[in-house]
Amino acid sequence: MASLWTGLLLRIAKHWIAGETCDDAYARVQQSNTHKVRGILNLLGEDTTSRKDTIAATAKYLEILDTLKSRQIEGCISVKPTQLGLMIDPSLFTDNLNKIQSKAKALGTFVWVDMEGSPFTTHIVDAYIELRKRHDNIGVAIQAYLKRSEDDVNRILDVGGAIRLCKGAYNESPQIVYKRKDQINKNFSKLMRLMFERGRGFAIATHDEKMIEEAVRLSSVHHADFEFEMLMGIRDKKKLELVARGYRVSEYIPFGKSWWAYSKRRIREHKSNIFLLARSLISG
Ligand SMILES: Cc1cc2nc3c(=O)[nH]c(=O)nc-3n(C[C@H](O)[C@H](O)[C@H](O)COP(=O)(O)OP(=O)(O)OC[C@H]3O[C@@H](n4cnc5c(N)ncnc54)[C@H](O)[C@@H]3O)c2cc1C
Repeated sequence: MASLWTGLLLRIAKHWIAGETCDDAYARVQQSNTHKVRGILNLLGEDTTSRKDTIAATAKYLEILDTLKSRQIEGCISVKPTQLGLMIDPSLFTDNLNKIQSKAKALGTFVWVDMEGSPFTTHIVDAYIELRKRHDNIGVAIQAYLKRSEDDVNRILDVGGAIRLCKGAYNESPQIVYKRKDQINKNFSKLMRLMFERGRGFAIATHDEKMIEEAVRLSSVHHADFEFEMLMGIRDKKKLELVARGYRVSEYIPFGKSWWAYSKRRIREHKSNIFLLARSLISG
């Protein structure tokens, strides 16, 4: 019974994830590349409490970077700090991240650092800023729902860092985050303006029509070096439309066996995804 249920959930999760193996992920990025959309590969996994698992995840990322290069795939990677050891020991996280960043640098590619729940924000921003002072092939996600983010954006822009601006996907307390969509969008607009005014390479990571078109308007005034980023399986037509309009677009492509936590966030932020579950049950 459990495996039947897992199989059904995986079928739904495949709407947002490439599959469970690296080959599934490469095939999906290659498919995106044929539409001139770049891929951002993410090996699913978070909240890791085993040192051995963090080392295995790091090794997997090194292998992925080699394969992207050898197969001439247009893409980069995005890593989760708690998968690299942030919950165990901050220095384990920075050691693992350093290894990945150095390899990416040697291969001429880029590493994004995902932003996780608020207990980790300070560590992630501080570690990012230290690394960015020495290396330019690394960027970090910032969440517009966090009230602190304007300070973080300014600190990161001060060191010339690359920000991926997203709304934020975790269930946080109203004391530290904006909860209403209009408040989150207002902060997103404010941070986006700061990035267009002061940023060099950055990413606008949203599927929200209003925010995307606002970025388009800002880009006509500021001529900044930026790209749109969206998640696999969400607003695929919009990705192609933006490419046709001349914008750079990347698609975040998660893969791996630990797909449940990620899938839960996608369902929570868009309740109609529950219908995917129903449809999948009916179609057998
Ligand atoms: C490239 C990328 C990287 C990200 N990295 C991080 C990160 O590091 N940390 C983090 O906390 N969050 C991250 N996120 C997730 C982000 O914070 C939001 O939770 C998510 O993108 C939904 O917000 P939205 O901007 O699309 O706006 P929303 O207001 O949530 O949605 C706007 C519209 O987009 C569509 N849409 C949005 N979500 C879905 C969905 N799940 N299914 C179907 N349609 C949908 C709908 O049409 C909706 O009306 C990332 C998002 C992207 C695109």
